[in-house]
Amino acid sequence: MKVCSVINQKGGVGKTTTTINLGGALALMGKKVLLIDLDPQGNLSSGLDIDPSLIESKNVYHALVGQNKLVENVCETSVKNLYVIPSDNNLAGAEVELVDVKAREFKLKESFTEHLDNFDFALIDCPPSLGLLTINALSASDSYLIPMQSEFFAMQGLANILQTAKLVKRGLNPKLEEDGILLTMFDSRSNLSKQVYHEIKQFVGDRLYHNVIPRRVRLAESTSHGIPGVIYDPNCMGARSYIEVAKEFILRSQGLRMQPSQKQAFLPPDPVDRLGKKEPTI
Ligand code: ATP
Ligand code: MG
Repeated sequence: MKVCSVINQKGGVGKTTTTINLGGALALMGKKVLLIDLDPQGNLSSGLDIDPSLIESKNVYHALVGQNKLVENVCETSVKNLYVIPSDNNLAGAEVELVDVKAREFKLKESFTEHLDNFDFALIDCPPSLGLLTINALSASDSYLIPMQSEFFAMQGLANILQTAKLVKRGLNPKLEEDGILLTMFDSRSNLSKQVYHEIKQFVGDRLYHNVIPRRVRLAESTSHGIPGVIYDPNCMGARSYIEVAKEFILRSQGLRMQPSQKQAFLPPDPVDRLGKKEPTI
């Protein structure tokens, strides 16, 4: 099983929407997928319409504080191949309870057992902070994916995320790798979105996903119906983009990159390279 944390300390950038739809898209492709809700807001759990009374008995909190193992908290969803370990507000208490516990950064990792090996992928939806919950997620992961909103201040905060990941890799989890950076809520009609894409691309190169996620109300709507957007309206632009991102995610998990020619038509050409061979675009 490959474990990937979806992280960004900034709120509202599309972490949960990405976890649900990337997970849903992978499940549609026949992969067996486990989504772990590591955010006390519980948005992933409500976005998949998990019964609140079930969340009391099956909760990532129990595994984190050592009451049981992760596998005992797995719930089915309405989507074939897609499973979830839910959370709710109780999880906020875990951060406090773990403060004095030895090796508190490894509590999530310790709760993984071989029973989970029949999943192909686990995606961990992290809270908007780089605190103990996110550190636990990174310690238990093979990789991390950073969704970033297509806005002017997008790059602010990226250095903090990368520094945290570097510290975790150095001190806690040497196998941790960056999966990539995914631009979300992209407005194909706005020059600002294109400019942000261009700037980030110049800064991070092909660490940026070739595909971006457009801003589409259907994606927001689907969450309120408790169904991943890729199932709710598979033909909408948002859903199709997440399917493309899932293909790219699988390639990246094998250490490969998608060809630039496969990127979406509305994206600007790649920025000028250092030797100036390509035409400047902006
Ligand atoms: P938090 O940090 O609070 O956990 P988050 O990073 O998980 O937030 P989401 O909850 O996924 O962010 O998204 C924030 C809001 O933006 C939600 O209302 C969601 O429905 C909406 N949203 C996310 N992605 C898109 C999109 N591509 N198009 C339109 N709306 C979107
Ligand atoms: Mg969220």
